[in-house]
Amino acid sequence: MRGAIQIATLRGIPIRVHYSFLLVLPFLAWLFGLAMAGGIGPERLRGHPLVWGAGLAVALFLSVLVHELAHSVYALRKGGQVSDITLLMIGGVSRITRMPEGAKHEALMALAGPATSLVLGVLLRVGSVPLTAAGAEELGFAAAFLGGLNVFLGLFNLLPAFPMDGGRVVRALLTGWLGRVRATQTAAFIGKGFAVLFGLVGLFGVPGLWTPFNPFLLLIAFYVFMGAAGESREVLLQTLLSGLRVRELMTPRTSAVGAEDSLEEVDTRLRAERRRALPVVEDGRVVGLVTQEAVLRVPAPRRGQTRAREVAQPVPELTPETQAWDALREMGQRQLPQLPVVQDGLLVGTLTQEDLVRGIQRRELEGNQRNGPWGVGPRESHT
Ligand SMILES: [Zn+2]
Repeated sequence: MRGAIQIATLRGIPIRVHYSFLLVLPFLAWLFGLAMAGGIGPERLRGHPLVWGAGLAVALFLSVLVHELAHSVYALRKGGQVSDITLLMIGGVSRITRMPEGAKHEALMALAGPATSLVLGVLLRVGSVPLTAAGAEELGFAAAFLGGLNVFLGLFNLLPAFPMDGGRVVRALLTGWLGRVRATQTAAFIGKGFAVLFGLVGLFGVPGLWTPFNPFLLLIAFYVFMGAAGESREVLLQTLLSGLRVRELMTPRTSAVGAEDSLEEVDTRLRAERRRALPVVEDGRVVGLVTQEAVLRVPAPRRGQTRAREVAQPVPELTPETQAWDALREMGQRQLPQLPVVQDGLLVGTLTQEDLVRGIQRRELEGNQRNGPWGVGPRESHT
């Protein structure tokens, strides 16, 4: 994620903080400081309200982190993969690159976060009682306040607004009945409905409950809406490509350029072969990929002296047996138009975005013909 700084690593998972979170910290410190002064009484509060507020804001940040870690630890225990945790202005995001298998684990993974927040909230509330009784009035109030925030965090995330945690539970519950694509589409539809509702409440408020123009609620509305649409598309693609291997989609194009070839030569080859990229080979092994963009980025007079190896981009190991879905993800993450396919160190073909699109269209057509296991109608598949 762009605009995020790494602050720690836990069990190999990088933990990052997005700048938006840092922007909101002073505001939260001010807001929580007011709450402290109001709760204890400004004349009886020992210490500056802003100091208490800043402490509470950092404690909330740690609470969100604990919530996200609960998701991640469950995912890791059940064979999933977590690439990173990022804390944003509106909460945390755990990027789970591989989900634990099965709807039950998916539901439990989604529940782990809110459950942890609720337990933490109740513990803080209970713990505040002896603190207040012992005369540590400020600490008692702060613990109770933080407890309340954690309970809110847990309950709010349980709303069935996919891709929020509650929405993920709904999707998991629907998967057995509707299949993964339809379950995601249904959960995303409900999620978008909630996003509109959050947006309306955020703009106009609810008399006596919420004041109008709540920027947090508007941001959450935006995040839920975009997230629902994005995940819905992703699951559809993933399902359409499921079970397909690179072997079935790749084209046996084995032309390549040498690492020592000049960019002038590479450019000529790209034009002649009508390719957007060519694999770079050295001693018979693929060492990278040179794209049209990379060639054009070098000024024309310098292309004669620049070697292909200097502008080649590293490529992941793709074999004919690689899952088509993994290949698509690699292409998307690296923003490459195609990837070389290698077997026993030898270049055996290329997989392009067009090859993948062809595979997806074929699966869609097959699905429409049979209306079979994919259960994807022609209308839904293009939204
Ligand atoms: Zn969560």
